[in-house]
Amino acid sequence: MTPAPQIPVPAHTLAESMLSRHFGRETVNYFSSSPINRLSFLRSDHPFLSAALKHPATRFVLLNNLAPLTRSSSELFYAKYDDVRKLVSQDLFDKPEGDMIKSYDSRKTYPNLIFLGLDESRKDGGLAWKIYSGTPYFAVDVTPKGSEEQQTAAKDIISAMEARGLSFFQTRVMMTFSADEAAIYAQSRALIDWNNRNTFCGTCGHPTMAVNAGTKRACPPTDAARAVDGKSEERPACNTRTTLSNLSFPRTDPTIIVAVVSADGKRILLGRSKRFPPNWYSTLAGFIEPAESVEDAVRREVWEEAGVTLSRVVIHSSQPWPYPANLMIGAIAQVSDPAHETISLQHDPELEDARWFEVEEVEEALKIGTSDLSAGAGPEYKGGLRLPPPTAIANQLIKAAASAEYFAAGTNAKM
Ligand SMILES: [Zn+2]
Repeated sequence: MTPAPQIPVPAHTLAESMLSRHFGRETVNYFSSSPINRLSFLRSDHPFLSAALKHPATRFVLLNNLAPLTRSSSELFYAKYDDVRKLVSQDLFDKPEGDMIKSYDSRKTYPNLIFLGLDESRKDGGLAWKIYSGTPYFAVDVTPKGSEEQQTAAKDIISAMEARGLSFFQTRVMMTFSADEAAIYAQSRALIDWNNRNTFCGTCGHPTMAVNAGTKRACPPTDAARAVDGKSEERPACNTRTTLSNLSFPRTDPTIIVAVVSADGKRILLGRSKRFPPNWYSTLAGFIEPAESVEDAVRREVWEEAGVTLSRVVIHSSQPWPYPANLMIGAIAQVSDPAHETISLQHDPELEDARWFEVEEVEEALKIGTSDLSAGAGPEYKGGLRLPPPTAIANQLIKAAASAEYFAAGTNAKM
């Protein structure tokens, strides 16, 4: 078997356009560019979800405490409906969503089940629904929890899978899947984790229920469990039910990450935190704050962490980072005045060191010194600078910042 490509190369990146001539080819990062069409508008269509759930071609990604079920560290295992039948009731989507909300009963527990979408490249034997066809994908949380019955079913599924030689692969950051599987795993992990963190309403504190095939949560107006002591089923008023947007939406935390180029274009600013291995440096990064633009956040973070004042900031590419819910927005930025290049770590103590590296040293490190944070440097590494691997957006930003082509793209425009 040939090793799967680690970085996605969707067809659109190879297409010619005015924009690609002007700005260069789009950079597509690991965890993005899923082969699955999410078909978000079908998530409340229960007849569709019901057909997808029971279809023989349907594939289920299983997560146990967020660790995905795998054949090996580089390959996901896709279960069939029969494998998860004990945990996922066949009649789950038989009632319309509105009726499910109306008959909510907090005593009944359900596993997190997420409809991921259809893989339209696998149409043979797949599901055909109106004008859409392909292989349906779901993610299921098999972590033993909830009612006793649910826990027993989850444990049975885990044992049955492990008896087949499969394992739930625990790792800090998944960097060994193919590009397609990394994106499928990222969507599964992000949504199951979000559901687990939002089982109670943030406004009124009562339990919530998953709706829209696990991609939103509702605070139901009634709870059958309240009626046991002759009380009304009605729950206290909740602000989330008073407007049209009466649902909780999955959270995505925008984060900036930036490769900074010196005024003369010959050096790149990199930093390191104490937890990094020796000689390992990366781009600067930080959360975007409320009421802050991406460019403002880039300027603030670079000044706070390194004391460097930026001029132009250009957004380069982005990367979903499902640990737990980040969207890394990658930028390239430049200092316009050499006087603004002076490094100071006195403001924010986040970095242990920040330094300007010559482009030649960075290029060498990109060739022989890249690795995951937890892995050793490659066999060709001879000491000196170490950098993140190509599966991290930091690597793509550093590569662009070190490349003359990136800065020449606009001048090469044939328009
Ligand atoms: Zn509420």
